[in-house]
Amino acid sequence: MRIKSKGEVGMKLGIVIPCYNEEEGLAETTKRLQTLLEEMVELGEISQESFVCYVDDGSRDTTWELIEKFTEESEFFRGIKLSRNFGHQNALIAGLMQLKEEADALVSMDADLQDDISVVKGFVEKYKEGYEIVYGVRDDRTNDTNFKRGTAEFFYKFQSFMGIESISNHADYRLLSRKALQALADFKEVNLFIRGIVPLIGFRSCSLYYTRGERFAGETKYPLKKMLLFALDGIASFSVMPLRIITIVGFSIFMFSLLMILWVVFEKLFLGTTIQGWSSMMISIYFIGGIQVMSIGIIGEYVGRIFQQSKGRPRYIIDKEI
Ligand code: UDP
Ligand code: MG
Repeated sequence: MRIKSKGEVGMKLGIVIPCYNEEEGLAETTKRLQTLLEEMVELGEISQESFVCYVDDGSRDTTWELIEKFTEESEFFRGIKLSRNFGHQNALIAGLMQLKEEADALVSMDADLQDDISVVKGFVEKYKEGYEIVYGVRDDRTNDTNFKRGTAEFFYKFQSFMGIESISNHADYRLLSRKALQALADFKEVNLFIRGIVPLIGFRSCSLYYTRGERFAGETKYPLKKMLLFALDGIASFSVMPLRIITIVGFSIFMFSLLMILWVVFEKLFLGTTIQGWSSMMISIYFIGGIQVMSIGIIGEYVGRIFQQSKGRPRYIIDKEI
């Protein structure tokens, strides 16, 4: 760590941006961030050595060539190239872990600038007030599609039902101080859901609100399938509630079946009308069968996570850094 002289102004800020096939928008993003950083340096809010680091998550278009170009053109820009596509969360953790010693605080954001970049100024102010974590929270989602908004709302409700502490409408737009990053480094999980881990770090934290814009170029890199898998990580990596629900359901069915046995015996001995009841039998076979298969599936989700964690594979592999 570099020792700063007392008179030196500004903290050293790093901005980390995972990029996957973002060639269409990256030039614009770079331009806007360049302006933002210049302005903040000018005002003495951040130091001259502040930077933006793009993490190329194995893009198959010209994203990396663009990043190389930007690093040559401006002192502010850096790049990390991963060896293949690891996914948004892994690319983000790669950037955060790689750069955690090099700045006083890191801000993470998406390449599409859907998140209002002027909020970065607010992040820095809060940091200077002594906050270690500052969350960017969307105050409305009118610029998202109805589908995305609906599924997201359902997801946040479901998560809180499962007893997971999370911040609604906060994605991965936040500031983490060096201290918070060091704490984050101790979370070794492989099935990453960073926005679920950060609240577990603790420290002094606060939220800043902003309006989320539209993606100005390219299309979403989160198709439905990725979104569902991500949501599954957001639940199964943080809560054993689904397993508990299985136990409760299983126990209820067991109690119910005891009553049924009594009823069946009673019917057999005293009423003698055992032939009827075919429909109720069929229904219960399907019902129990369905619950069993579903329960095995849920248990499988957890076993699968134990499997992946026990292999201890790296969360990301770096090819190049510039
Ligand atoms: N991203 C990534 N790897 C992936 C998918 C996405 O690094 O496998 C990046 C992407 O380039 C963007 C960010 O993650 O900077 C968020 O993706 P996107 O904007 O497509 O998600 P959305 O805003 O639609 O949820
Ligand atoms: Mg986006």
